[in-house]
Amino acid sequence: MSETLLPTERTRVVREPQRGVYDRETIYKILDEGFVCHVGFSLDGQPYVIPTLFARVGDAIYFHGSAASRMLRNVSEGIPVCVTVTLVDGFVLARSVFNHSMNYRSVVALGKATLVDTPKEKLEALHAYTEKILPQRWNEARQPSEKELKATSILRLPLTEVSAKVRTGPPEDDAPDYALPVWAGVIPAHTAFDPPVRDERCDPSIPTPAYTAHYRR
Ligand SMILES: Cc1cc2nc3c(=O)[nH]c(=O)nc-3n(C[C@H](O)[C@H](O)[C@H](O)COP(=O)(O)OP(=O)(O)OC[C@H]3O[C@@H](n4cnc5c(N)ncnc54)[C@H](O)[C@@H]3O)c2cc1C
Repeated sequence: MSETLLPTERTRVVREPQRGVYDRETIYKILDEGFVCHVGFSLDGQPYVIPTLFARVGDAIYFHGSAASRMLRNVSEGIPVCVTVTLVDGFVLARSVFNHSMNYRSVVALGKATLVDTPKEKLEALHAYTEKILPQRWNEARQPSEKELKATSILRLPLTEVSAKVRTGPPEDDAPDYALPVWAGVIPAHTAFDPPVRDERCDPSIPTPAYTAHYRR
């Protein structure tokens, strides 16, 4: 059975609390489907929210630390961050403007991110990013050199204080509005990818790998 995390003062969903979800299984499914996260942190009183690639490995997520890592160089015990992942599932068209909404699944994770410093863990994180986006790509592309690994900063956030919020289903109108002659329903949304476009400098004799040619998400 999936473990349910206890919401803390900081992760308890306040608005529409019935949409709050705290079981690891649901949270991890959302994280594994998303590939961009937004990392929020504060530097000298200025909040920054940076979009970046991420991957989950076990009970932690790894993300590129380009911006936040500047601070981390001097903060060995970690930097407080808020990481958000959002999947948009549809536009919800209600009979009233007020009740328009979106169907979505989102995760908010709070905690202290630490800089990954061992080359082994860095490699694991890079492998996870690559395989998450395009399974089989890792083995085909050139592996990172020692210099490249050194130049890559990766942050690790343990998934201990986490919430998900999920909205599904039709619009929820006020009772009298159901009689209005207004179309109502959902426009489902999903991420789609077009056929791959070969780099002009890619040798035409190199076949397009099946994992690329038939890419679906
Ligand atoms: C695509 C999308 C569109 C949205 N549009 C709107 C909108 O137009 N208006 C609106 O009011 N809300 C919208 N939301 C919901 C919004 O993210 C917040 O949940 C809401 O604004 C405030 O919730 P709260 O009172 O719990 O907030 P807070 O008090 O800010 O949150 C308390 C805690 O609840 C948890 N939490 C809050 N929101 C989320 C979330 N989305 N996912 C996971 N955990 C969460 C976090 O742990 C947070 O620390 C949207 C969400 C998504 C993903």
